[in-house]
Amino acid sequence: MIVSMASANFVHSPCFSTKTLRPATSSLNRFIIFSSNYSYRPLVVKAQAKRGIIQKDVLLEEEIATPDDLKFEAPLEIVLYPDPRLRSKNKRVATFDDNLKNLADEMFDVMYKTDGIGLSAPQVGINVQLMVFNPVGERGEGEEIILVNPKVIKYSKKVAPYTEGCLSFPGINADVVRPEIVKVDAQDITGANFTLSLSRLPSRVFQHEFDHLEGILFFDRMSAEVVESIRTELMELEQKYEDRTGLPRPESVETRKRWKAAAGFGKS
Ligand SMILES: [Zn+2]
Repeated sequence: MIVSMASANFVHSPCFSTKTLRPATSSLNRFIIFSSNYSYRPLVVKAQAKRGIIQKDVLLEEEIATPDDLKFEAPLEIVLYPDPRLRSKNKRVATFDDNLKNLADEMFDVMYKTDGIGLSAPQVGINVQLMVFNPVGERGEGEEIILVNPKVIKYSKKVAPYTEGCLSFPGINADVVRPEIVKVDAQDITGANFTLSLSRLPSRVFQHEFDHLEGILFFDRMSAEVVESIRTELMELEQKYEDRTGLPRPESVETRKRWKAAAGFGKS
């Protein structure tokens, strides 16, 4: 299953729009220097780290999605940067029912309609740990993958740049450096646990979507130089958010102190 996905056409790209993605050019290979920053660092469930200072029942209430958290209305709409839901904590899913299946179906639906090849639940305003992807990006073709509560258990030291787009950042495409291979533990739509090793395009798509589940957006992973190249577009999205909602932008590229240019996992 994954072998065939891994051999998917590499000209197509991540979470992202199949129309605009392309492999990074060789002139950007200098970003590979970030490989020296790599070390094997399995993710630790944050809840475990907090145990001992937070009562268990409080912790559960905080971490596990309630039926209300999983309520949605079809058709789903893509949440655009800088909507704060893209930065919110995403709760673990513990109920594997028809509602969850329907949500995943609707996510595929909006993903295909918007020419995406991957989509995370926070991008449709549902702050839970759920992602869907299909690197072929066409209904009825390729493999539809649904991952619930995914965790990265291992990733390669070897990294590569690649041009990514994001459905929450329409019109923006830029290079992001990421590990080439990841090993993932997750649950499927029925709640069954499984492990996946991903490389090439599926690895790239997974990592982009996994970042969404951690509240990390793709420009957080870009070098300052690359962010500079898309600064105008980011600020246009921020202005559109203000015009659309009448609210001040909750974040701005203008006020960022630094960028987390190195690839990796989790906030640090
Ligand atoms: Zn995205």
